[in-house]
Amino acid sequence: MSSLSDIGTIKDIMKRHGFAFSKGLGQNFLINPSVCPRMAEMGGANGNSGVLEIGPGIGVLTAELAKRAKQVTAIELDDRLLPVLGETLSEFHNVNIIHGDVMKINLTELISDNFADCDEVAVCANLPYYITSPVIMNLLESRLPIKSVTVMVQKEAADRICAPVGSRESGALTVSVNYYAVPEILFKVSRGSFMPPPNVDSAVIRMTIREQPPYDVGDEKIFFGMVKAGFSQRRKTLSNSLTCGGFLSRTEASKALADAQIAANTRIEALNMKDLAKLSRCITQIKK
Ligand code: SAM
Repeated sequence: MSSLSDIGTIKDIMKRHGFAFSKGLGQNFLINPSVCPRMAEMGGANGNSGVLEIGPGIGVLTAELAKRAKQVTAIELDDRLLPVLGETLSEFHNVNIIHGDVMKINLTELISDNFADCDEVAVCANLPYYITSPVIMNLLESRLPIKSVTVMVQKEAADRICAPVGSRESGALTVSVNYYAVPEILFKVSRGSFMPPPNVDSAVIRMTIREQPPYDVGDEKIFFGMVKAGFSQRRKTLSNSLTCGGFLSRTEASKALADAQIAANTRIEALNMKDLAKLSRCITQIKK
C-alpha cells in the first residue's frame, strides 16, 4: 500500500469505496507525511506497548502506530470506513478496529480486553474536533490504566489546555486536565496538512497521566464544582462567581475565601493549582 498520506492514494481509495468526507464527523485526513511518524514516536507506540486510537479515518496514523507498538486498537464511528480500513491495514496483524462511538464505549473494559499482554497503554489520536473536550475529559475522568494521551487538537484548544494554571489564558479545561495529567505542546500542524483543510491550525499535545493529583483538594466533586462555577463567570470576583448557580451561599463563599486567606475580589483565573486546592479544601470543610 503506497503512503496513506498521499493525496492521489486517498482520492483513489475514496473513489473505489464511494466515500465522501463527512464534515459533521470531523473528517479531515492528514496529508503531511511527517506528522504521523512523529506522533506515533512521541505518543508511546514502542516495543511492548498497546495504543488506543480514536477515529482512524483511512488508517494513516494507525499504520504508523502498528509499525511501532505491540497492539493497536482503534475506535471508528463511521461504518463506511470499515471496509477501507480492512484494505489499508491488511498487512498488519496487530490492529483491531472497533466500530462505535468513543463516548459510548466502556474504555476500561476495552483496555483490559485488548491490551492484557502489553507492558503499558497509551492513547494516540487525531481527534474529531467537535468532541475534543468531552473526549479528553472522558479519558482522564475514567482513570484508565494509561500512561499518556497524545492528541491532535485545534491550536486554540492546545494553547488553552497547556496554559499555566493561574494565567489569563487558563480555563476550566486547563485546571481539570492539570489535575489528572501534565500537559505539553509537542508540535504545531498547519491547516494545509489536512484534506480537506480545516479553518484552523492544529497542534499535537501530550498529557502525561499523574500517578496522584498534585494537591489534596478535599472532596473532588466540590473541587470540580468550584472550578465550573468560578470559570463560568471568570471575569467576576470569586465572592460573586462562587455563588453562581447556587454553588455556595454568600456567607459560605465569604467564609471559604477567608479560611483560605484569599482576597474576596480575586478572580479564579489568578489562582494557581495550590491555591485552588486550598480553597476547595476549605469549601469541603464548610459543606461537611
Ligand atoms: N486519523 C485520521 C487522520 O489523521 O487522517 C482521521 C482523523 S479525523 C480528524 C477524525 C476521525 O474520527 C474520523 O475518521 C471520524 O469518522 C472519526 N470519528 C468522529 N466521531 C467519532 C466518535 N464519536 N467516535 C469514534 N470516531 C469518531
